[in-house]
Amino acid sequence: MPRHALVLFSGGQDSTTCLAHALTRYERVETVAFDYGQRHRIELDARLQVLGALRAQFPQWAGRLGEDHLLAVPVLGEISDTALTRDVALQMQESGLPNTFVPGRNLLFLTLAAALAYRRGLDVLVTGVCETDFSGYPDCRDDTMKAMQIALSLGMDRRILIDTPLMWIDKAATWQLAESLGGPALVELVVEHTHTCYLGERGMRHDWGYGCGSCPACVLRARGWMNWRAG
Ligand code: ZN
Repeated sequence: MPRHALVLFSGGQDSTTCLAHALTRYERVETVAFDYGQRHRIELDARLQVLGALRAQFPQWAGRLGEDHLLAVPVLGEISDTALTRDVALQMQESGLPNTFVPGRNLLFLTLAAALAYRRGLDVLVTGVCETDFSGYPDCRDDTMKAMQIALSLGMDRRILIDTPLMWIDKAATWQLAESLGGPALVELVVEHTHTCYLGERGMRHDWGYGCGSCPACVLRARGWMNWRAG
Protein backbone atom coordinates (compact mmCIF):
# COMPACT_ATOMS: atom_id res chain seq x y z
CA MET A 1 0.00 0.00 0.00
CA PRO A 2 1.69 3.18 -1.11
CA ARG A 3 1.21 5.86 1.48
CA HIS A 4 1.08 9.58 1.23
CA ALA A 5 2.88 11.66 3.82
CA LEU A 6 2.87 15.11 5.34
CA VAL A 7 6.25 16.11 6.83
CA LEU A 8 6.39 18.62 9.66
CA PHE A 9 9.21 20.58 8.12
CA SER A 10 10.86 23.49 9.94
CA GLY A 11 13.96 23.88 7.78
CA GLY A 12 16.32 22.47 10.42
CA GLN A 13 18.69 19.51 10.22
CA ASP A 14 16.26 17.06 11.80
CA SER A 15 13.18 17.83 9.75
CA THR A 16 15.24 18.00 6.53
CA THR A 17 16.53 14.49 7.25
CA CYS A 18 12.95 13.41 7.93
CA LEU A 19 11.88 14.90 4.61
CA ALA A 20 14.57 12.91 2.79
CA HIS A 21 13.41 9.79 4.65
CA ALA A 22 9.84 10.45 3.52
CA LEU A 23 10.90 11.02 -0.09
CA THR A 24 12.58 7.60 -0.20
CA ARG A 25 9.60 5.86 1.41
CA TYR A 26 6.33 7.48 0.34
CA GLU A 27 4.77 7.98 -3.05
CA ARG A 28 3.67 11.56 -2.48
CA VAL A 29 5.09 13.93 0.10
CA GLU A 30 3.85 17.34 1.17
CA THR A 31 5.38 19.66 3.77
CA VAL A 32 3.98 21.95 6.45
CA ALA A 33 5.40 24.56 8.81
CA PHE A 34 3.87 26.73 11.46
CA ASP A 35 4.44 30.44 11.81
CA TYR A 36 3.76 31.51 15.37
CA GLY A 37 5.89 34.62 15.58
CA GLN A 38 9.29 32.98 15.77
CA ARG A 39 11.98 35.46 16.67
CA HIS A 40 13.87 34.49 13.59
CA ARG A 41 12.19 34.51 10.23
CA ILE A 42 15.45 32.94 9.10
CA GLU A 43 13.99 29.54 10.05
CA LEU A 44 11.08 29.96 7.69
CA ASP A 45 13.35 31.25 4.93
CA ALA A 46 15.74 28.30 5.36
CA ARG A 47 12.98 25.83 4.59
CA LEU A 48 12.32 27.41 1.19
CA GLN A 49 16.05 27.19 0.44
CA VAL A 50 16.05 23.51 1.40
CA LEU A 51 12.98 22.71 -0.72
CA GLY A 52 14.49 24.50 -3.72
CA ALA A 53 17.81 22.69 -3.32
CA LEU A 54 16.10 19.30 -2.95
CA ARG A 55 14.09 19.86 -6.13
CA ALA A 56 17.16 21.00 -8.06
CA GLN A 57 19.68 18.42 -6.86
CA PHE A 58 17.56 15.30 -6.36
CA PRO A 59 15.53 14.70 -9.51
CA GLN A 60 14.59 11.22 -8.23
CA TRP A 61 12.72 12.92 -5.37
CA ALA A 62 11.45 16.05 -7.11
CA GLY A 63 8.48 14.27 -8.67
CA ARG A 64 7.25 13.07 -5.29
CA LEU A 65 7.65 16.40 -3.54
CA GLY A 66 4.28 18.12 -3.61
CA GLU A 67 2.79 21.23 -2.09
CA ASP A 68 4.32 23.16 0.77
CA HIS A 69 1.99 24.62 3.40
CA LEU A 70 2.60 27.40 5.91
CA LEU A 71 0.01 27.73 8.65
CA ALA A 72 -0.12 30.87 10.78
CA VAL A 73 -0.64 30.04 14.45
CA PRO A 74 -0.36 33.43 16.17
CA VAL A 75 -2.37 32.18 19.12
CA LEU A 76 0.66 30.16 20.22
CA GLY A 77 2.63 33.37 20.64
CA GLU A 78 -0.18 34.80 22.75
CA ILE A 79 -0.15 31.95 25.23
CA SER A 80 3.60 31.44 25.49
CA ASP A 81 6.39 33.53 26.91
CA THR A 82 9.58 31.89 25.82
CA ALA A 83 12.98 32.56 24.38
CA LEU A 84 11.82 31.51 20.93
CA THR A 85 9.18 34.19 20.57
CA ARG A 86 10.54 37.02 22.69
CA ASP A 87 13.88 38.57 23.48
CA VAL A 88 14.53 36.57 26.62
CA ALA A 89 17.91 35.04 27.40
CA LEU A 90 18.09 31.31 26.89
CA GLN A 91 18.26 29.43 30.19
CA MET A 92 17.29 26.25 31.94
CA GLN A 93 14.21 26.35 34.12
CA GLU A 94 13.61 24.65 37.46
CA SER A 95 11.64 21.97 35.64
CA GLY A 96 14.87 20.96 33.88
CA LEU A 97 13.49 22.16 30.54
CA PRO A 98 15.02 25.05 28.61
CA ASN A 99 12.85 28.16 28.48
CA THR A 100 12.47 27.55 24.75
CA PHE A 101 9.84 24.99 25.70
CA VAL A 102 6.33 25.97 24.66
CA PRO A 103 3.94 23.76 26.63
CA GLY A 104 1.99 21.42 24.38
CA ARG A 105 3.37 22.93 21.18
CA ASN A 106 3.84 19.62 19.38
CA LEU A 107 0.37 18.46 20.41
CA LEU A 108 -1.10 21.48 18.69
CA PHE A 109 1.15 21.11 15.64
CA LEU A 110 0.29 17.43 15.20
CA THR A 111 -3.42 18.15 15.48
CA LEU A 112 -3.23 20.91 12.88
CA ALA A 113 -1.05 18.74 10.65
CA ALA A 114 -3.52 15.86 10.93
CA ALA A 115 -6.41 18.14 9.97
CA LEU A 116 -4.44 19.35 6.95
CA ALA A 117 -3.43 15.77 6.06
CA TYR A 118 -7.09 14.74 6.23
CA ARG A 119 -8.07 17.43 3.74
CA ARG A 120 -5.13 16.61 1.46
CA GLY A 121 -5.66 12.83 1.48
CA LEU A 122 -2.37 12.12 3.27
CA ASP A 123 -2.25 9.33 5.84
CA VAL A 124 1.20 9.56 7.43
CA LEU A 125 2.61 12.39 9.54
CA VAL A 126 6.42 12.46 9.60
CA THR A 127 8.07 14.37 12.43
CA GLY A 128 11.63 14.70 13.70
CA VAL A 129 10.86 14.36 17.39
CA CYS A 130 13.48 12.52 19.39
CA GLU A 131 13.77 11.13 22.90
CA THR A 132 17.55 10.97 22.68
CA ASP A 133 17.72 14.76 22.38
CA PHE A 134 19.13 16.57 25.43
CA SER A 135 16.17 18.84 25.93
CA GLY A 136 13.71 16.13 26.90
CA TYR A 137 10.60 17.88 25.67
CA PRO A 138 7.69 15.81 27.03
CA ASP A 139 5.67 16.39 23.86
CA CYS A 140 8.44 14.70 21.83
CA ARG A 141 8.32 11.40 23.69
CA ASP A 142 7.54 8.15 21.95
CA ASP A 143 4.60 7.51 24.28
CA THR A 144 3.20 10.97 23.50
CA MET A 145 3.44 10.23 19.76
CA LYS A 146 1.71 6.87 20.14
CA ALA A 147 -1.05 8.46 22.21
CA MET A 148 -1.47 11.20 19.60
CA GLN A 149 -1.61 8.64 16.79
CA ILE A 150 -4.48 6.89 18.53
CA ALA A 151 -6.27 10.12 19.50
CA LEU A 152 -6.02 11.55 15.98
CA SER A 153 -7.07 8.28 14.31
CA LEU A 154 -10.10 7.99 16.58
CA GLY A 155 -10.99 11.67 16.51
CA MET A 156 -10.86 11.88 12.73
CA ASP A 157 -12.20 8.37 12.13
CA ARG A 158 -9.36 7.67 9.74
CA ARG A 159 -6.11 5.74 10.27
CA ILE A 160 -3.31 8.26 10.71
CA LEU A 161 0.25 7.03 11.26
CA ILE A 162 2.95 9.08 12.95
CA ASP A 163 6.37 8.18 11.55
CA THR A 164 9.31 9.31 13.75
CA PRO A 165 12.56 8.23 12.05
CA LEU A 166 14.78 10.06 14.57
CA MET A 167 13.08 8.93 17.78
CA TRP A 168 15.88 6.69 19.07
CA ILE A 169 18.98 8.04 17.36
CA ASP A 170 21.40 10.80 18.37
CA LYS A 171 22.72 13.72 16.32
CA ALA A 172 25.70 11.77 15.00
CA ALA A 173 23.34 9.08 13.73
CA THR A 174 21.14 11.78 12.20
CA TRP A 175 24.09 12.94 10.08
CA GLN A 176 24.74 9.31 9.18
CA LEU A 177 21.10 8.86 8.20
CA ALA A 178 21.29 11.86 5.88
CA GLU A 179 24.32 10.33 4.17
CA SER A 180 22.61 6.96 3.87
CA LEU A 181 19.53 8.54 2.30
CA GLY A 182 21.13 11.02 -0.08
CA GLY A 183 24.89 10.57 -0.02
CA PRO A 184 27.42 13.37 0.41
CA ALA A 185 25.19 15.69 -1.66
CA LEU A 186 22.44 15.55 0.96
CA VAL A 187 24.94 16.09 3.79
CA GLU A 188 26.23 19.14 1.95
CA LEU A 189 22.68 20.40 1.44
CA VAL A 190 21.96 20.02 5.18
CA VAL A 191 25.19 21.84 6.08
CA GLU A 192 24.62 24.67 3.65
CA HIS A 193 20.88 25.33 3.83
CA THR A 194 19.35 24.09 7.07
CA HIS A 195 19.07 26.29 10.13
CA THR A 196 19.35 25.16 13.74
CA CYS A 197 20.83 28.04 15.79
CA TYR A 198 18.53 29.39 18.51
CA LEU A 199 20.07 32.84 18.13
CA GLY A 200 19.36 32.97 14.40
CA GLU A 201 22.99 33.57 13.43
CA ARG A 202 24.16 32.68 9.93
CA GLY A 203 27.36 34.70 9.81
CA MET A 204 30.00 32.04 10.28
CA ARG A 205 30.23 28.82 8.26
CA HIS A 206 31.50 25.92 10.34
CA ASP A 207 32.09 22.37 9.05
CA TRP A 208 28.63 21.52 10.38
CA GLY A 209 26.88 24.57 8.99
CA TYR A 210 26.00 28.09 10.07
CA GLY A 211 25.31 29.26 13.60
CA CYS A 212 26.63 31.02 16.69
CA GLY A 213 28.43 27.84 17.77
CA SER A 214 27.58 28.25 21.44
CA CYS A 215 23.82 28.04 21.94
CA PRO A 216 22.49 24.58 22.97
CA ALA A 217 21.21 23.85 19.45
CA CYS A 218 24.56 24.71 17.84
CA VAL A 219 26.50 22.73 20.46
CA LEU A 220 24.31 19.68 19.87
CA ARG A 221 24.61 19.94 16.09
CA ALA A 222 28.39 20.52 16.19
CA ARG A 223 29.01 17.68 18.66
CA GLY A 224 26.92 15.32 16.54
CA TRP A 225 28.92 16.30 13.46
CA MET A 226 32.25 15.71 15.21
CA ASN A 227 31.15 12.36 16.64
CA TRP A 228 29.91 11.27 13.22
CA ARG A 229 33.15 12.32 11.49
CA ALA A 230 35.22 10.63 14.20
CA GLY A 231 33.15 7.44 14.03
ZN1 ZN B 1 23.56 28.95 17.89
